[in-house]
Order: sequence, then structure tokens, then C-alpha cells
Amino acid sequence: MNDSRRKIPSVDSLLGREEFAAILDARPRWLVVDAVRRALQRLRADLAAGRRPDAPTAAEVAAATRTEIEAMERPSLRRVINATGIPLHTNLGRAPLPARARWALEDAALGYSNLEYDLEAGARGSRYDHCADLLKELTGAEDALVVNNNAAAVVLVLNELARERGVIVSRGELVEIGGSFRVPDIIAKSGARIVEVGATNRTHPEDYERAIGPDTGALLKVHRSNFRQSGFVAEVSIGQLVALARKHEVPVIHDIGSGLLPDASKIPELPWEPSVSGSLSAGVDVVTFSGDKLLGGPQAGIIVGRGAIVAGLRANPLLRALRVDKLTLAALEATLRLWRDPATAATEVPALAMITQSGDASRRRAENIASALRERVRDAEIVLVRDAAEVGGGSYPGVQLETWTLKIRLPGTGESQLEARCRAATPPVIARVSDGALCVDPRTVLPHEEPELIDVLSNALTADDDPRRP
Ligand SMILES: *Cc1c(COP(=O)(O)O)cnc(C)c1O
Repeated sequence: MNDSRRKIPSVDSLLGREEFAAILDARPRWLVVDAVRRALQRLRADLAAGRRPDAPTAAEVAAATRTEIEAMERPSLRRVINATGIPLHTNLGRAPLPARARWALEDAALGYSNLEYDLEAGARGSRYDHCADLLKELTGAEDALVVNNNAAAVVLVLNELARERGVIVSRGELVEIGGSFRVPDIIAKSGARIVEVGATNRTHPEDYERAIGPDTGALLKVHRSNFRQSGFVAEVSIGQLVALARKHEVPVIHDIGSGLLPDASKIPELPWEPSVSGSLSAGVDVVTFSGDKLLGGPQAGIIVGRGAIVAGLRANPLLRALRVDKLTLAALEATLRLWRDPATAATEVPALAMITQSGDASRRRAENIASALRERVRDAEIVLVRDAAEVGGGSYPGVQLETWTLKIRLPGTGESQLEARCRAATPPVIARVSDGALCVDPRTVLPHEEPELIDVLSNALTADDDPRRP
């Protein structure tokens, strides 16, 4: 052991020094002790590796302790700025909620609510009543039910309609979505028996017809929400499936996933995507979809369809295990209200506003951010590039949104290093790396986050190489 290492003071003697008085003032002693130990461990390792020449002073240990405490007090789940340009980024929490949802969330969270209390009758009510009327109004369904997520919705519906019976599904629709949702696995867990029909690329009405029998519980159609098939392909349309189902008196379930409520034509800027209303008016018995995809609300699974079927779902014991909480219901109701006018939704539901943002608007935002950055950073090379963004989150497969990104290079600093600096910032900025540049797409940056984005980027572009620099 060399001399300078020996000179590092002990935890006890450090805590008695005035440099630590303010730190100890505001926090429990055990936490500070823990932080000092961690700081010392790091400093000793730096000394041993020759990354610092001398033993640290008490002031340096205090500074390192503050850094450790900051890390210990930082929440695990944190807000980040999404600069990837992908509006429904599943890893980044899918849809950011509309501002309207915030008040509803706070009210429901910080006080009591009529979650399961009928204010008119003065008696017990049901949590499942809260969004039902709005969903009926918006989709034309006879009834509606909200659970935890769409995976839960599919499990519940299959369990109710096809438990210990067959559910007929095309081989072209045995899809995987997001790694943890696989149609065959979900069917198996629901207690239904999978009956595969057709081929991967082609399924015909006769395939379903031949498979329908006395043991059939339901026909299931799954929207291929995250990929497209082209070439020699054939799929059975919703209309054909409904006609078959009517003939044989079996229900049709449509797992539509992405959850666009009205017909896509109601929002002219939106590319076509199957809608919940479209499916119901074609005669589908039950539609399931996510609350946090194109609906732009909280994570939820929404089931709409025939009254008798939804009544059965409400009475199914499995519902208790999948039940939605009051915060979700509060945020969902506020989001659904915005959908009463699709034009309002297109501006006030952030995910939708991002998806429908025009190429021109995207270019203007990128230009503004670039010029703000150029004023603050001298040596970086910042160019605007026309690019394509995906919608993400299992919606609009193959659709590329025209978008404008900032491609940023800093001589002497690698793009991965820039990306890591952005990720380590407060708030973290999540950006992409490509063509030897840091790529920042403002499409998914909320307007009020723009100043923060500019701060983080200009710090990253002027930083020295200390990775722990805030
Ligand atoms: C996204 C998706 C799911 C899973 O929905 P979650 O809300 O993530 O559980 C299921 N089916 C389809 C078709 C989807 O697009």
C-alpha cells in the first residue's frame, strides 16, 4: 500500500469535520455514512489505478459524497426527453399523457373518489362504469370494459368465450408484439385451445369454414400491428369473417391493438389504420385495444362490443386479477373526452399531435433548435437532414413520417460519447446515433421541453470528458 492511500481519513473522522456538517444536517446519518463509504471506495480505486496523484482532501471527499447522495436519492423511474422521433416508444413509456389528464390524475390520486361508489344511489358502484359511457359514445359499442393492458384484455375475452374450446386464428396472425406478447402463448394461457388455419402468407374463408365445429368458441382476428406482409398474400377481411361467424353462430374477436377510435378519415393528417368503430360497424362482436397506443392515453386494455359478452366479462373471476386502478381510469377518461372531437384530439393528445405533425412543421422546429444551439456552441457541426420516423409501439407498420433531424458532430468527440453524455444528463435526453453523428429528432420533444433539450445538448457539446459531469 502506498503512502497517499494510507492518508485517506477514516469515515468517523471525516464526519466530524465541518465540510460534512451541511450534508449531515439534511439527511439521516446512516445514509451519509453509506455515501461516504461509496465515495471513499471510488477515490481509493482512482488512487490505486493512478487516476489521481494524491489522497483526496476532506473537501474532495465531501464533494464525492454529495455526488453519491444525489445518485442514491435519484428516483429509479425518471422523466426523459425522447429525441428519437418515435412517438409511441415502448421503452420510453409509450404515449405521453395529454395535459388534461394531469388534473384528473392529481384529483384521483391525492384525495378520495367515487371509484366504486354510486353518488346518485348512495350505494356501492362499479369501477368499470367510469369510462364505459364515453367508450360507448365514441365507438358505437353496446358496452365497454377497461382492464390493465391489451394483453389482459385478450386473455380475458378468450377465457370468457373460448375456455376449454377452440379459438380459430390464421397462421398469418400468430404474431409477436413487443417480445412479451405472442398470440399462441396468450391463447394457451387463456385456457382456450388454438386452432390454426391457413398458411403464413395466405388464409381463405374456406380455411376458417372447414375448422368451425361444435367445439368452436370464437374466431380471432389479430391486427398485424407491427409488420406488413406483401407479395403472394391473402387475408380474410373482417366482413368475410363476420359473415362466416353469423352463419355458424360463433362470435368474432378482433384484437386491433393500436386502438384508433374513429375512422382514420376523421383526421386527414393520419395515414389509414383499422379503427375500433370500423370493426364494430362491420359486425365484430368484441374488439380489444391498448390505451397507450394511438389513443394516446395511459396503459390500459379496452374491450368494447356486445352487451351480453361484456356482461359475461364483468362477471368473470379473472377480471379481478386484471383490474384497472383509479389513476389509469382518471387519465383514460380525460383522454377519451378529448376524442369527442377528433380535431381536438389531433392537437391536444400529444402522441397524436406528434404523429400528425407535418414535414414543414417538423423542419421549422428543427431549424429553431439548430439556430439556438449554434449560438451557444462554436465548434460543433449541426446540419438539418430530411429523415423518416416510425410511429412505433405496434402501430402503422411500414409508415414513414417525413421528419427533420439535427445531425450533430463534434470534432474530436465520438458520436457515441455525445449520445452517452445526453443520456447521463438531467433530464436524460435519448437520441439516436447514425452516420457518425448524433441524431436528434424534435418531433417527439414536447414543446415545453425544448429549452431543456437545448441546455443538455449544448452542455454535451462543450463538456470535458469526465463521464460523471452532470
Ligand atoms: C400492442 C398490441 C398488443 C399488446 O397490447 P399491450 O397493451 O401492450 O398489452 C396486443 N395485440 C396487438 C395487435 C397489439 O398491437
